[in-house]
Amino acid sequence: MINKNMIKKGTNRSKIRELFEYGKILKAKAGEDSVFDFTLGNPSSKTPDIIKETLTSLLNENGVHLYTSAQGDESARNAICNTIKNRYGFKYNKNLIYITCGAASGLAITLKALISKKSDCVLTFKPYFPEYAVFSENAGAKFKAVNCNKNDFSIDFSDLKRKLTKNVQVVIINTPNNPSGAVYSEKDVIKLSKILNEKQQEFGHPIYLLTDEPYREIVFDGINIPFIPKYYDNTIVCYSYSKSLSISGERIGYIAVSEKCENYQDVYSACLGAGRCMGYVCAPSLFQKLIAKCSDELCDMSVYKDNRDILVENLTKFGFTCPSPKGAFYLFMKCPIDDANEFSDVAKELGLLLVPSNTFGLEGYVRIATCVEKRVVLNSLPAFEKLAKTYNLKG
Ligand code: PLP
Repeated sequence: MINKNMIKKGTNRSKIRELFEYGKILKAKAGEDSVFDFTLGNPSSKTPDIIKETLTSLLNENGVHLYTSAQGDESARNAICNTIKNRYGFKYNKNLIYITCGAASGLAITLKALISKKSDCVLTFKPYFPEYAVFSENAGAKFKAVNCNKNDFSIDFSDLKRKLTKNVQVVIINTPNNPSGAVYSEKDVIKLSKILNEKQQEFGHPIYLLTDEPYREIVFDGINIPFIPKYYDNTIVCYSYSKSLSISGERIGYIAVSEKCENYQDVYSACLGAGRCMGYVCAPSLFQKLIAKCSDELCDMSVYKDNRDILVENLTKFGFTCPSPKGAFYLFMKCPIDDANEFSDVAKELGLLLVPSNTFGLEGYVRIATCVEKRVVLNSLPAFEKLAKTYNLKG
């Protein structure tokens, strides 16, 4: 008998993909320039020249297309440890780094490694990346999300205390956040660590904090983003090069387990075991070799700030409520009506493809991905103005 749950997962696309596919059809019908697709988080910053040059030269080396060890090429794991040490002053052991196919597989693997009972629970913070629910359920856990403060999408700590029960084995944090662009402050990270420490004492078992880091380097206005393993010992990092090097289709990232983590060797071995069970033989070999040489590189993120500034300024002028996010490449705009689906449908009629926020566990907003060409942002402004007029908004 074919697994009905998997049929459902494979048939019902996420709302993001559904809108993206609709955009492709609309573009073919109405022309590229009349569709403003703000759906997908596909980086628009150019892949750095050094990445292309290094890949070209790697192609002449022997063995770059062959299997590596399951945990990844040693020189790449070494380079990852050095980059983290230089950037954040935090020491990792290369034997506790597991190179993965992006953050998505890192998350799915780590959850599979840490969940062992049906009653186990994974907790995250609203609004959240919808695949967290899919990966948690696949690992056999229940999934719950903590409310946020609506003014800045920071953590609602009283709701956290309510929902942080004995069954919670893993908490997932994502800062800068997709979809809100919020960056959790150092004060809040300290507060979160204190609560987690108190609760693991009380419950008598570790609570692992999984930090999902595809947007780590995309921060604006000179703010500093706390490196979470420095604040909470039981942190496991799932990092991705998708956005930092604009190579999202190449599938490369890593899991980093620190020696400060409780049962770190077992946690790491369980991740390798979960990866093995899920058929991840090794991450793409060519890109592991690339990371060995280029783990310190970053792409130019200025286009994301430019797009953010143009949109926030104009959307506010048109009468929308749209806070300026401190990181990632998304805006989270308040809908002028309660029903985000209905608002997204009305926007769609004007060629604006905006993702309704119930996809991210929160009602009443739309996500606008700003990782598009500046030309698309500028050309979309008259459509946004029309949308505002539809609801009689005034700036
Ligand atoms: N986590 C978040 C919050 C994301 O936004 C994404 C991708 O957009 C991922 C994980 C998956 O990233 P990757 O391409 O590294 O698998």
